[in-house]
Amino acid sequence: MPSKYQADFINEQAINDCLARNHEISDEEFNAILTKAASAQGLSIDEVAKLLNIEDDARLAKLYDTAHQVKEKIYGKRIVIFAPLYVSNYCVNTCTYCGYSACSGITRKKLNMAELAEEVRALEEMGHKRLALEVGEDLANCNFDYILECIETIYSLKFKNGSIRRINVNVAATTVERYKQLHAAEIGTYILFQETYHRETYARVHPKGPKHDYDWHTTAFDRAMEAQIDDVGAGILFGLYDYKFEVLGLLQHAAHLEEKFGCGPHTVSVPRLKPALGVDLATYPYMISDNDFKKVIAIIRLALPYVGIILSTRESQELRDEIIRYGVSQISAGSCTGVGGYSEHVSGISAANTAQFSVEDERSPDEVILSLCKSGYLPSYCTACYRQGRVGDRFMALAKSGDIQNVCQPNALLTLQEYLCDYASPETVKAGEELIANELAQIKNENMRKLLINQLAKIKEGKRDFYL
Ligand code: SAM
Repeated sequence: MPSKYQADFINEQAINDCLARNHEISDEEFNAILTKAASAQGLSIDEVAKLLNIEDDARLAKLYDTAHQVKEKIYGKRIVIFAPLYVSNYCVNTCTYCGYSACSGITRKKLNMAELAEEVRALEEMGHKRLALEVGEDLANCNFDYILECIETIYSLKFKNGSIRRINVNVAATTVERYKQLHAAEIGTYILFQETYHRETYARVHPKGPKHDYDWHTTAFDRAMEAQIDDVGAGILFGLYDYKFEVLGLLQHAAHLEEKFGCGPHTVSVPRLKPALGVDLATYPYMISDNDFKKVIAIIRLALPYVGIILSTRESQELRDEIIRYGVSQISAGSCTGVGGYSEHVSGISAANTAQFSVEDERSPDEVILSLCKSGYLPSYCTACYRQGRVGDRFMALAKSGDIQNVCQPNALLTLQEYLCDYASPETVKAGEELIANELAQIKNENMRKLLINQLAKIKEGKRDFYL
């Protein structure tokens, strides 16, 4: 009997045909596609295929400019900051690219609740308000109740002015019942990377374990949405297969969710394959160059204008500083991909021996915030949308109307002010205060400006957690 969960919305033949028929793009077509993209109405799969095939510098420069404009139109200068928190690296899967693979020989570690509290304390002391909870898949060593207990513990902890206000969760594909439990635990976004949309490659790089099942994995968001989780976070691990195929696969996935649930993914992550224990990158023929990677990010911004695009510390500082211009709206900062890596108090095992893969941007959150402020970006620790019920299709409707700007911008300023008061270095305080003053001066709505000035003053007096 066919399973209820078949990922037949990913149509490989259609993707290959689409790439084949869109090899050429005239100047006229190129300009028409960019004009359409600039109005933030998204792009068809054929239009995206044409853009994926562009190579010349003049066209690429135009593409980047348009992606930058669309990002600013929807998200302004805000960049949301978060950190991943690895609580267990036990894993029964044998993903060929991953340091957590059951075959990798990595030191296994699962945090107990006291250790978790130390990790959260360390993250809060860096100023974080928003986490992505990460676990390997191993229900014997790390069962679902443990994951729920972690979420409850993290939300309950408060150190000085610190608190984690949003936990996004990256756990393996599971059942509707378990997604309901995650929803009841008040998670933010449910994140699951597809890794690759290409079936044959998927089977090869996931040779054993529950993750081997392409259909079960690829239909995870269907079950999550059936369980009333509104915000889902997609992702492709670039380097496993042809990037052009992957981007079209992502679009088919987004279109399927939109059609079935009225709302596509809330975020798209764009990890690139990096060195990890037991992984020989030379055996991956589809590694993506920096230039193609930039192009892909700009194209995703134009094709799915309302998604949050997430760039991790897998990428270097230089590349992150550049790529932020092409449509990224969320970045991690100060990340550690080992279990227990944030806290010196977690005893026994060095976190370096428990890492899933290596990171390239090793700056502290304060250094990242300073650099963003100096480049005119507005770092945001805002978590208001999901606490105010602005999720799923409600978020998308607000974003499409442009009204989201009127709440996100003030919330970003308020959370930046909290950061400056509680965690920032003197240099960051100076740069941040200047930025806030500049942004305030540009707010046209008199009442909004007055409200903000009042709330910013209260934050300086010690009050916390204002949001619209
Ligand atoms: N449930 C997830 C798991 O077990 O993979 C949780 C952790 S992990 C942060 C999430 C993602 O890291 C994976 O989905 C994969 O895309 C990515 N990843 C794994 N190995 C990687 C590598 N060598 N380089 C870059 N990213 C990698």
